[in-house]
Amino acid sequence: MARKRNPAGIIFDIIKYAVHDGPGIRTTVFLKGCPLRCQWCQNPESQKVEPERFRGVYGRKYSGLFSGEDKHTIGREVSVRQVISEVEKDRIFYDYSGGGVTFSGGEPLMQPGFLFSLLKESKKRGMQTAVDTSGYAPWSAFKRILGYSDLFLYDLKLMDDKEHIEYTGSGTDSILNNLRKLTAAGARVVARFPIIPGITDRPDNVRAVGSFLMSLKSIDTIHLLPYNYLCKDKYRRMSINYPLKKLEPPSNGELRVIGRILRDYGLKVKVRGTE
Ligand code: SF4
Repeated sequence: MARKRNPAGIIFDIIKYAVHDGPGIRTTVFLKGCPLRCQWCQNPESQKVEPERFRGVYGRKYSGLFSGEDKHTIGREVSVRQVISEVEKDRIFYDYSGGGVTFSGGEPLMQPGFLFSLLKESKKRGMQTAVDTSGYAPWSAFKRILGYSDLFLYDLKLMDDKEHIEYTGSGTDSILNNLRKLTAAGARVVARFPIIPGITDRPDNVRAVGSFLMSLKSIDTIHLLPYNYLCKDKYRRMSINYPLKKLEPPSNGELRVIGRILRDYGLKVKVRGTE
């Protein structure tokens, strides 16, 4: 009974004063677990739902507010009440800046009941909410949170189904269909596009992203998320093979070219959501 009144889920971090995850100053809560396996994933520790051990100190080095039960563990079970009381501490900043709380991951919809309860409680307390999603989740999970999330930050990576399978482990069908349904339902969506050199940044893929978004009519903004390799050390410490060891981040010139292509489709382009 207690669990029902105060449901719990697993998070691996909370970051305060976030300015890249939606409007204004925000607190971003990272739910653990993701069904995809993107080769460039910056947070390999987000992929398994269960808490896991880290070879080295995870707590202070890689996480913001808190991670596991001790500094070598990633992820911990927390209640909705615990999360919301932490988020509410910075309410003055949200009110001042037009910010709020963002639920990210991993893929937050992989814990659908927990996410729903977090959103519902946030809205009950008058906070602005956002969900940062890969789009890879059953439509029923999206449908449940419609009306509780003021904004969806929605990733598009590769538009070709075979390439999407090759680089993320899953196809595009449900991701594209969920985005069609979300926009048709009137949800506010900002697209996010990880720029991975040689993989997602090819002009044909950039054009396909622009063309798809234009066809939806209601999405007018896209955030470019340039690849960085700060995650390499995490892969090593978690004994996970990192296939993109030699990849370099995109240059500003490359980002400008991608931005130009997307602007031709009528989109407002921002880099990391702020510039
Ligand atoms: S969707 Fe995001 S969290 Fe999941 S594997 Fe891909 S990059 Fe990592």
